[in-house]
Amino acid sequence: MKLILLAAPGAGKGTQAEKLCEHFGIPSISTGAILRKNIKDGTELGKIAKTYIDDGKLIPDDIMIKVMDARLAEDDCKNGFILDGFPRTLAQAEKLDESDIKIDYVLNIDVPDEVIIDRLSGRLECPKCGTTFHIEHRKPKVDGICDNCGGKLTCREDDKPETVKSRLNVYHTQTEPLIEYYASKGMLRTAKGQNEIADTTVEVLKALGE
Ligand code: ATP
Ligand code: MG
Repeated sequence: MKLILLAAPGAGKGTQAEKLCEHFGIPSISTGAILRKNIKDGTELGKIAKTYIDDGKLIPDDIMIKVMDARLAEDDCKNGFILDGFPRTLAQAEKLDESDIKIDYVLNIDVPDEVIIDRLSGRLECPKCGTTFHIEHRKPKVDGICDNCGGKLTCREDDKPETVKSRLNVYHTQTEPLIEYYASKGMLRTAKGQNEIADTTVEVLKALGE
């Protein structure tokens, strides 16, 4: 299964990508996680990426395409993968089309803007393992501590209100057109995002005919 996940920031595509990764036994590739790891490690890519991410802007297409070319060529992608965060622009989608990778489905998780803003503004993330929580809707068992690995939860720099606005704006102008792009190719499946993570997973699997 080669799957692209589309959704607005904060719609829960990262969380659903993890569920699908278990369900299908294939890796989930999060561009955001790759970039954040590079920032943490202080790589050249990380230094460039940070300036864009902190502004809520997209990393330039040519850089992102190179990063993904390399990642998708790794051995663990042979039997399939879930793309969480790529492509995010028409230029990226067209590059992927030109490659010899054949995508099975593009899944959109549909969540209204009001819900997105509420979720992003209360989101907490574990900088060690990447698991996300929410101060109201998905509380960790112990305040401020990751259930999964015991790491100290933090608020992502780009989840600040001003940056959230910019990310949503970028999503509507640059990424949302991909819905139409893939619909016209007959590749699009849609799942309505639900309040509960498990309920969204049910919708997601249904949309994929599982
Ligand atoms: P969420 O993680 O809640 O889905 P998000 O989709 O905005 O939110 P990430 O996917 O973690 O967040 O990405 C964080 C940032 O990394 C983006 O705001 C953007 O700056 C950069 N980024 C990630 N993927 C791409 C991409 N395909 N092209 C360009 N920039 C990207
Ligand atoms: Mg993400």
